[in-house]
Amino acid sequence: MNAHPLEDQLRRPIRDLRISVTDRCNFRCSYCMPRELFGDDYAFMPSSEQLTFEEIERLAGLFVALGVRKLRLTGGEPLLRRNLSGLTARLCKMDGVEDIGLTTNGILLRQHAEALYEAGLRRLNISLDGLDPELFGRINGRGVKPETVLRQIDHAVDTGFEVKVNMVVKRGLNESELLPMAGYFKDRGITLRFIEFMDVGGGNGWSMEHVVTKREMLERLQSVYELEALDRHYFGEVAKRYRYKGSEAQVGFITSVSESFCSSCTRARLSSDGKFYTCLFASGGLDLRRLLRSGADDDSLLAAITEVWEHRADRYSDERTEQTQQQRSKIGMSYIGG
Ligand code: SAM
Ligand code: SF4
Ligand code: SF4
Repeated sequence: MNAHPLEDQLRRPIRDLRISVTDRCNFRCSYCMPRELFGDDYAFMPSSEQLTFEEIERLAGLFVALGVRKLRLTGGEPLLRRNLSGLTARLCKMDGVEDIGLTTNGILLRQHAEALYEAGLRRLNISLDGLDPELFGRINGRGVKPETVLRQIDHAVDTGFEVKVNMVVKRGLNESELLPMAGYFKDRGITLRFIEFMDVGGGNGWSMEHVVTKREMLERLQSVYELEALDRHYFGEVAKRYRYKGSEAQVGFITSVSESFCSSCTRARLSSDGKFYTCLFASGGLDLRRLLRSGADDDSLLAAITEVWEHRADRYSDERTEQTQQQRSKIGMSYIGG
């Protein structure tokens, strides 16, 4: 444990590390990897540029030494990375790690759920944007039916995982799915989290008009259900949580646009090619892979990470306007993993 917790310019400690293990994906969600930009000829990262599992484990260990307690594996689609359960097992065994989760579109879970559970993983966030087959097939850009993901969700629950479902809500696309999704997951006691559509990357055509705010989503839910607000679990918790009255089932809202939460943002991000980013909307990051591969020892890596975090002053969502979001060039969501 470090005696003096590492804090940034806004006194935010470093607590979470989101590790992207690949920039590839088997979906082409229109809000994340639109098919027009990520076509057949798109040049994904060659595997020699990806961090190896040894490199990821070493860097994760250094972040933990600086105060990180929670890890999340993401992508692209993380289950496309070969032997992900091997990496998961190593990370689950790491001293100091209190919590580890994985975010996935779920469609490869049948092949991987047991191995991941054996590796020690207990928490899965599975993304699903609607129950209407035609609509969901169109959103994911691959014609995959909701039924396929729903079966994997059931399988994950049966395997023993604590499952949460993530739904991005975009006006004009899938807001009609809000109530059907809420009803479906309430009945099964699975927490559903509604994510406000964000202006990640440069190509998803974001505008404020497409954002369905938490307030609006909540009003729609409250037209059918009685909900009670729950207290925040811990500093830096992202979701605003509610419980359906008379039931244990919960819903959450990730309000990155309408009620930003930069003041308690404790998240660091590592891309699959080893860049360290301090904000989801960053334009650049520290190239830790270059340092690793040029033989840097742990002390110099720790010093480099410390310096970046101590200088961190990011609060993009607090400052977002239609104008600023167009001015900044941002890393892509499928590259950094959300
Ligand atoms: N492929 C995995 C998945 O979809 O769960 C993991 C990576 S994905 C980038 C992580 C999360 O980011 C998903 O829940 C996805 O819905 C969300 N996401 C992607 N683009 C988004 C956007 N423009 N606004 C809000 N959330 C977004
Ligand atoms: Fe792939 Fe996830 Fe992005 Fe959809 S949201 S394109 S599943 S990385
Ligand atoms: Fe954190 Fe950046 Fe998102 Fe603000 S905009 S909550 S600093 S990742």
